[in-house]
Amino acid sequence: MVLPVKRWFAIAFLAGAIAISQATALAADDWQIIKLSGQDYLSVDNISRFYGLPAGIAASGEKVEFEAAKNPLEFVSGSREVMINGARSWLCFPAIEQNGKLLVSRTDVAKTIEPLVRPHRVPNVGKVQTIVVDPGHGGYDKGQVSRYGYEKDFALDVARKLRPLLLSKGLRVIMTREGDYFVPLEVRAQIANKARDSIFVSIHFNASNDDRNATGFEIFSFTPRGAPSTSDSAVAPSALSTQPGSAVDAQSLALSACIYHSLLGHIPEYDRGIKRARFAVLRLTKVPAVLIEGGFLTEQGQCRLIAQKEWRAKLAHAISVGIESYRALGIKKQPPLLVADYRKQIKSAPNEFVVQDAELKEADTSIVNLVGQSAFPAPQQAPTPSQRVSLESAPIVP
Ligand SMILES: [Zn+2]
Repeated sequence: MVLPVKRWFAIAFLAGAIAISQATALAADDWQIIKLSGQDYLSVDNISRFYGLPAGIAASGEKVEFEAAKNPLEFVSGSREVMINGARSWLCFPAIEQNGKLLVSRTDVAKTIEPLVRPHRVPNVGKVQTIVVDPGHGGYDKGQVSRYGYEKDFALDVARKLRPLLLSKGLRVIMTREGDYFVPLEVRAQIANKARDSIFVSIHFNASNDDRNATGFEIFSFTPRGAPSTSDSAVAPSALSTQPGSAVDAQSLALSACIYHSLLGHIPEYDRGIKRARFAVLRLTKVPAVLIEGGFLTEQGQCRLIAQKEWRAKLAHAISVGIESYRALGIKKQPPLLVADYRKQIKSAPNEFVVQDAELKEADTSIVNLVGQSAFPAPQQAPTPSQRVSLESAPIVP
């Protein structure tokens, strides 16, 4: 058993943030670095021991689902997929098997596992006063086009539903757009960067032309320096070194975790995971920033749900609870609620969360009134390449 302070030093060592000899000496007790092709790795045993958390290892090619995740840490051999506290996340590099041990990159232990296992220990999670809510797309940029409406309108509606929920928690809210017009991505980031004690939450809906059955939630924060984004299977090291990192990387990942656990906990959609990307709004923001993909407009069942105003209200509620959970990190320094905690809460008070079946029968068309002359496409109209989401693709991770 090691003391917490010692663990903190060890993590700092791992992140390369502290070069003092004391930290290095302390770290040597806790971490046995394994060198492989010039890269640093830690064994899953070592990680499990360090955190005092049981870890499971699934065979290569196996999928770990929430119900099947028996351990707080579930790795998949040869994969970047990992379940941490019941929610999927994606490592920067695959966990690899070597001499009967599963190894995880040092980058991932410092940049992925540590902030997700202990978001309450992420340093400098400061006071959160302002939430910059960014409804994706707008104006000529419709985002994904579905038979029930445009992504830009659904995103704006969720943002409008989210705003009063955040205001009622005593937070300040700035919307990057209030109506149906386009705001340049750099301006959206500047709005967040100028606001005091702010975080940035971008709201989008997903699309996949390759897999029309793709469903579920995912959330993105900025890719760490020297690592590939989740959708990139391989990136040349030379390209990686030219990419900047983010000074608030750990905070953004903690924000991802807080919102994502609330999303999955409130709405049992498919868990696509906590991911990394270099989207412009994430790259240009200097404050903790995430981009939420609240379901697929290309999957018929999910698209119908997204078109329900009640479902969008549920989504806004789940996002607001996640934001509150992140704000509490900076104040209480306690572990945030996890997907299982939310599901337990909902089980004990189900009526608060149930959307009546009758309400789900017909797609909500009130969004037409919301944005005036929003021209809905004829049913079945396929998106043309120019209408495809420019900000983000729909990465389907193998
Ligand atoms: Zn989008």
